[in-house]
Amino acid sequence: MKQFDVIVVGGGAAGLIAAGTAAKNGAQVLLAERNSRMARKVMITGKGRCNVTNDCSEEVFLQNVCSNSKFLFGAIHRFPPQRTMALLESLGVPLKVERGNRVFPVSDQAVDVVDALVSFAKKAGVVFVQQRISQLLVVDGTVTGVGCEDGAVFSAPKVIVATGGKSYPLTGSTGDGYQLATQAGHTVTPAMPSLIPIETKEDWCRECMGLSLKNVTLTLWEKGRKKPLYTELGEMLFTHFGVSGPLVLTASTYLKKDLSQYQLEIDLKPALDNRQLEQRILRDFQVNSNRDFFNSLSELLPRKLIPVIVRLSEIPPEQKVHQVTREQREKLCGIIKHLALTPKGLLPIEEAIVTAGGVQTKEVNPHTMESKLCQGLYFAGEVLDLDARTGGFNLQIAFCTGFVAGESVGKEDVSCTQ
Ligand SMILES: Cc1cc2nc3c(=O)[nH]c(=O)nc-3n(C[C@H](O)[C@H](O)[C@H](O)COP(=O)(O)OP(=O)(O)OC[C@H]3O[C@@H](n4cnc5c(N)ncnc54)[C@H](O)[C@@H]3O)c2cc1C
Repeated sequence: MKQFDVIVVGGGAAGLIAAGTAAKNGAQVLLAERNSRMARKVMITGKGRCNVTNDCSEEVFLQNVCSNSKFLFGAIHRFPPQRTMALLESLGVPLKVERGNRVFPVSDQAVDVVDALVSFAKKAGVVFVQQRISQLLVVDGTVTGVGCEDGAVFSAPKVIVATGGKSYPLTGSTGDGYQLATQAGHTVTPAMPSLIPIETKEDWCRECMGLSLKNVTLTLWEKGRKKPLYTELGEMLFTHFGVSGPLVLTASTYLKKDLSQYQLEIDLKPALDNRQLEQRILRDFQVNSNRDFFNSLSELLPRKLIPVIVRLSEIPPEQKVHQVTREQREKLCGIIKHLALTPKGLLPIEEAIVTAGGVQTKEVNPHTMESKLCQGLYFAGEVLDLDARTGGFNLQIAFCTGFVAGESVGKEDVSCTQ
């Protein structure tokens, strides 16, 4: 049986950084990944382009973390987004910064990021093995190694669990880390979908399937609250079941209760206030005064939305534009500024971008990522009860926690016995 200083379980974003960092600091590291290819989830990030981080300050990063942001205070200080960027560029991946400070490889290829992370670990001397780890070996509250699904055993005084969350299980992230953590005595907050498309009661979303709206404002209201829970300008998308896209995914992170308590509202013309919108409609109506109402909206609204808005306005489609009353026009304006959607359900966790819940952060030392309950056991990445908004923040969580875990296990005077 081969003995290592450190075993990293999971070769995703967090595991690769952790393993490479520990090995660079002199540890003999084994990385066990269940798939034949590393970081399959990273390959599909950012629609295959990989939004690798967000070029923002530590403060802004923390504001975008939805759960347990305080836990990341030290980790993000030690490994901020700019260090992620510097590391990738030093590994031969030139980067570009897009809208909202989202960082992508210039090549728009997630595979370039994966190859760079793998070569970082390889060059540092990490040994790779394709194994699904099914057991932690723990003696007297101290970790001694791991057991594999096929019965093989690897020994090490330090083990980093970086098995990711539970979403997109075909990538290999099936929640195994939760069982490993429970075995070591940890409490795991139940896994919940986060950054997830929303099913709506309104059937008309299906009619608009594929329509992407840019520069609209999405607002999420909770019954009984005067202030919205969330409101932001950006992009969203209609699907056969409801809505998706960046604004919707972020809004979904606020849905904590019975969904009947919430209402979504789209402002299709956020750049215009009510009066300006009415004037704009009046101008369009003057040009189209002898046309049917249905045919007068093509300059104002996307084609797929027109039948929906016409129906909701209750103005007969064949009514001549010059016959549209002031009351009807005001109602039309109201619908365009406050297009209502009722959340009915969330897609299952398998289709979430990230998993909320996971190993409770209060049982993990934020300065080292070591378990407070089991000596030598560390956690990194999405397996922890951490999740953030879209924009590169989730990979940055994986990178900074992976780095801290890797540094913590690698910096001591580790001796390796063969
Ligand atoms: C469709 C999609 C798009 C996304 N886009 C972005 C984006 O653009 N930007 C962003 O910041 N975030 C994005 N995310 C989120 C981001 O991918 C994750 O937060 C991040 O990959 C988490 O890293 P991780 O290393 O903790 O886990 P993972 O990347 O999930 O890696 C875990 C690894 O552990 C392995 N593993 C699991 N169990 C075992 C076991 N028992 N034994 C051995 N190996 C095991 C898995 O096979 C996997 O390779 C996206 C997620 C999805 C699903």
